[in-house]
Amino acid sequence: MFLVFLEIRDGKIKKSSLEALSEAKRRADEMSMDVAAAIAGHNIEALAGEAFCYGASKVFVLENTLLSHYSPSGFAFALKSLIDEVNPTVILFSATAMGKDLAPRLAASLGVSLATDCIKMTANGGKLEVVRPIYAGKAFATFSFKSSPQMVSLRPNVFPLIDPLDTQGETVKKDVVLAEDNVRDQVVELLKAEGVALDVTEAEIVVSGGRGMKGPENFDLLRDLTSILPHSAVGASRSAVDAGWIDHQHQVGQTGKTVSPNIYLAFGVSGAIQHLAGMSSSKVIVAVNKDPEAPIFRVADFGVIGDLFQVIPPLKEELKKLLAE
Ligand SMILES: Cc1cc2nc3c(=O)[nH]c(=O)nc-3n(C[C@H](O)[C@H](O)[C@H](O)COP(=O)(O)OP(=O)(O)OC[C@H]3O[C@@H](n4cnc5c(N)ncnc54)[C@H](O)[C@@H]3O)c2cc1C
Repeated sequence: MFLVFLEIRDGKIKKSSLEALSEAKRRADEMSMDVAAAIAGHNIEALAGEAFCYGASKVFVLENTLLSHYSPSGFAFALKSLIDEVNPTVILFSATAMGKDLAPRLAASLGVSLATDCIKMTANGGKLEVVRPIYAGKAFATFSFKSSPQMVSLRPNVFPLIDPLDTQGETVKKDVVLAEDNVRDQVVELLKAEGVALDVTEAEIVVSGGRGMKGPENFDLLRDLTSILPHSAVGASRSAVDAGWIDHQHQVGQTGKTVSPNIYLAFGVSGAIQHLAGMSSSKVIVAVNKDPEAPIFRVADFGVIGDLFQVIPPLKEELKKLLAE
């Protein structure tokens, strides 16, 4: 059995979790296995329906009021109890902030290996092979597992969603028995950054600026673009962040966030290896840089050699026209 942990945010299953579930469905079909999903929280049973649409035939609902907010120790405890009982062959997470926190805890408590932030998963003779970037994205390594269950976290925005299925499955409610000391830590409140509608890791289009933006005020040019592009967010290089032009939450790269949007637009970003580590799995990369030798052009699908301040205004007008059609 594949068991996929589904993350809930604002009362909904996160898209990246549905991507993991979709990938589980594809691989499980090849390996003639079932797909189950696990959700944890309080009064969340109604969310099982969406999991059935994305490939789960069974949804385990881990119920306890103490799980209403994310608790690393509480969630790990609840999931371990479920895993001990149902003995899955494969356990999948999405490599989100929560997945990056929870999956290693669980792997440690189960005493098994975990392949993190994977960008490809194949079935080979009944076992999984996964590909993950290593050395800050300079190389890719393929792993298989000696331990069982095989635990994997998948990079968000890399694995496509399946077309929603019109099926229902079995909902299995588990009242998790938790002692107070099983929940040693708890997220009390999630504070949304002011003025940031969409996190850069969740955006389908990322519009990034680097040192070539010249100053904080020019990031408004990028915000203008995101205001007309659907599901978009502003990203930044570390130089721009270190200069104090934009908050660290926008930083893309090795010491920032990893993004895999459908389109990554890079304005005045040189393309240092540490920046590429966070965005090279983007589906289409467009770079605007006045230096034809800038390394960003080595990974770009489309490039404009030119001054970004000349390029952005007509680009914005063209985008407006296109999006109005
Ligand atoms: C341990 C470590 C971790 C790091 N982590 C990260 C990370 O997470 N993310 C990250 O981004 N960096 C990271 N870095 C820093 C990284 O090495 C680079 O220094 C940084 O990415 C450079 O940022 P930049 O491309 O904005 O600036 P620069 O390298 O200075 O490039 C600016 C670019 O703008 C172009 N430009 C200038 N003016 C214009 C214009 N008018 N129009 C068009 N183009 C123009 C220039 O040609 C140049 O290519 C890390 C470094 C280390 C050592």
